[in-house]
Amino acid sequence: MATVKSETRKIGIFGGTFNPIHNGHLRVAEEVRQAFALQKIYLVPSSRPPHKGETEVAAAEHRLAMVRRARRGNPFFGSSSYECRKGGTSYSIETLAYFRKRLVGAEIYFVIGWDAWCEIGTWHSFSKLFSLANFIIISRQGRRLLVEDSSESLFPFALQDEFCYEKEFCYRHTSGHSLHFMAVTRLDISSTRVRSETAAGRSLRYLVPDSVANYIYRNKLYVS
Ligand code: ATP
Ligand code: MG
Repeated sequence: MATVKSETRKIGIFGGTFNPIHNGHLRVAEEVRQAFALQKIYLVPSSRPPHKGETEVAAAEHRLAMVRRARRGNPFFGSSSYECRKGGTSYSIETLAYFRKRLVGAEIYFVIGWDAWCEIGTWHSFSKLFSLANFIIISRQGRRLLVEDSSESLFPFALQDEFCYEKEFCYRHTSGHSLHFMAVTRLDISSTRVRSETAAGRSLRYLVPDSVANYIYRNKLYVS
């Protein structure tokens, strides 16, 4: 008899600088989790880019602590300290290899923003990424950006021969992994905005969870 255990676990990985994490990120994670019936979605803060100063990007342990606070209360959300612990430049290829090792047998969905997707040709070993996981490209611009079904407009030139059309917003990589384009709710919140509101001494209510706002105040982050 088939047991629940024998079902493939579907796990999402959502990386970002999360400087700090805000309600826009959390809403994306929730919508993706629901749309793809993921058992869990891990929020993975990156380590600090070496060329960025402390006032620009808070220390990894602070960003991780805020992610941990933000995810509390949602049993579908997890967080991972992998990139923060590793330090140095965060390469998605290494992060994916790590999660594949940790989550043997799981189907992994790697979530990236449209902005990151447009630059994917510059990522380390980018063409190998799609052999390691399924991808979900999230667009904050809604369906407008995605209605054009031609792979020429959706895929960077370097990747056009590696995917074939499967159904609306879904493509199949030569490795068998899928790639999806998904329109998500556009909450007009960015970490940049949260940092500038903090620096100006204004309220962060409803931009970030209260637990994150309190952490920012207590640790005097982003006051420059
Ligand atoms: P910054 O303002 O410092 O650039 P950010 O708000 O863009 O920060 P990141 O940590 O860079 O946050 O974002 C991680 C991922 O989340 C990116 O892929 C980005 O496209 C996506 N993202 C950020 N804000 C939103 C939002 N409000 N709605 C949907 N996606 C978002
Ligand atoms: Mg950004």
